Amino acid sequence: MHTYRIDLDKKVNLDDFDPAETRYAPGGKENAEQSLLQLNRQLEALQESLYAEHKHRVLVVLQGMDTSGKDGVIRRVFEGVNPQGVRVASFKVPTPVELDHDYLWRVHQQTPARGEIVIFNRSHYEDVLVVRVHSLVPEAVWKKRYEQINAFERLLTDEGTTILKFFLHIDPQEQKERLLERLEKPEKNWKFNAGDLKERALWKEYMKAYEDVLEKTSTPWAPWYVVPANKKWYRDLVISTLLVETLQNLEIRLPAPFSAQEIAEFRRQLSQEDRSG
Ligand code: AMP
Ligand code: MG
Repeated sequence: MHTYRIDLDKKVNLDDFDPAETRYAPGGKENAEQSLLQLNRQLEALQESLYAEHKHRVLVVLQGMDTSGKDGVIRRVFEGVNPQGVRVASFKVPTPVELDHDYLWRVHQQTPARGEIVIFNRSHYEDVLVVRVHSLVPEAVWKKRYEQINAFERLLTDEGTTILKFFLHIDPQEQKERLLERLEKPEKNWKFNAGDLKERALWKEYMKAYEDVLEKTSTPWAPWYVVPANKKWYRDLVISTLLVETLQNLEIRLPAPFSAQEIAEFRRQLSQEDRSG
């Protein structure tokens, strides 16, 4: 799955990435769903150890166009994982108070604490994506942000945070189908936004902005992965695999168990309680 990882400063052309490919799942969807179940159990166990060890912090950044599956990844990949120790931070249009601060202010407040996994549903990258595409700040301002973001993420990783960034790559045809589905199902209407059509019309501009993000901010300490996301099951498989692998590499250690003497002593205290009670 490391072929999906982007190297810093290497030219990225998103047309070269097929959003519909499933090369690491030769067994197809059914096999992948089996693997996904297994990965899910591994993730559950790894998260519990991470929480118990209370040492590492893990940040997962999800970016992608509307309907690319950010919500779906959160629901599926983290299914069954203990909500204690996992947190989702969704970044919407900034509030007036947020706009009165620098763009990283609201982001830094949401970064993971020790033992915690935090999922960013959108992120500080919106400040070089939507902000750039809609010229919400002058070019001279957003152009500086790639370096600022790299330095910010460096600070986080230096202090013990592990960062994984996923770009959920779909094509405009797939988005069209997903938007139509939201219109066709009354219970999905709430997910449809008239504004999504305006953003959709700017697809090319967004891809250009994403290409720059991938080229300039896929650092060794906080790499980007371009996830083929036309097929939901494949998207989930790729992200689960990379996440489980990353957590395994942390070599999480549970706090040392009690010694035989300590256990004997605690047992003695408990049994004394019985006698006196
Ligand atoms: P959604 O993720 O569909 O709920 O929509 C959230 C909206 O907030 C998207 O249209 C984002 O582009 C927008 N958004 C997120 N961060 C920013 C930002 N820093 N500046 C402007 N718009 C933003
Ligand atoms: Mg939306």
